[in-house]
Parts: sequence; C-alpha cells; structure tokens
Amino acid sequence: MTCRELFELLMDYLEGALPPPQVELVEAHIADCDDCRSYIGAYREARDLVARTIRAEQPPDPPEELVQAILESRRKKPR
Ligand SMILES: [Zn+2]
Repeated sequence: MTCRELFELLMDYLEGALPPPQVELVEAHIADCDDCRSYIGAYREARDLVARTIRAEQPPDPPEELVQAILESRRKKPR
C-alpha cells in the first residue's frame, strides 16, 4: 500500500468502516511508515478535540479541511 492509497482509506479506517482485510493493510502500512503514523495521530487528536467541543450540539462534520491539509503536506514533502 502506498501513502496515497492509505489516505483514500483513512476516513473509513478511522470510522471503523473498513473490512478487516483492508484494516490489516492500513495498519501494516502505519506500522512501517513514520509519516503516516504521525499524520494519523494528529488527525485523531483533531477529531477528538472537535468531538469533545461540540458533542452536546451535533455530530462533527467530516474534517475535510484537515484531510486536504494532510494531502497538501504530503505533496510538499515527498518520501
Ligand atoms: Zn505512508
């Protein structure tokens, strides 16, 4: 799996919506790739922060801006 493929699966992975074979692929890549591991860590922290902030109001919108920021940073810093 490439980093690009991982990011395409990232939303479903974080939602727990991926089938187990793909979860294994994602986790194998994360275990091997420091960049993706740190991005996913930051992504989860941001999501948790959003969820805590507005949990009493409504479900958080998908953090599309954050995904775009991640993709942008990948383009700027190729492996
Ligand atoms: Zn990666």
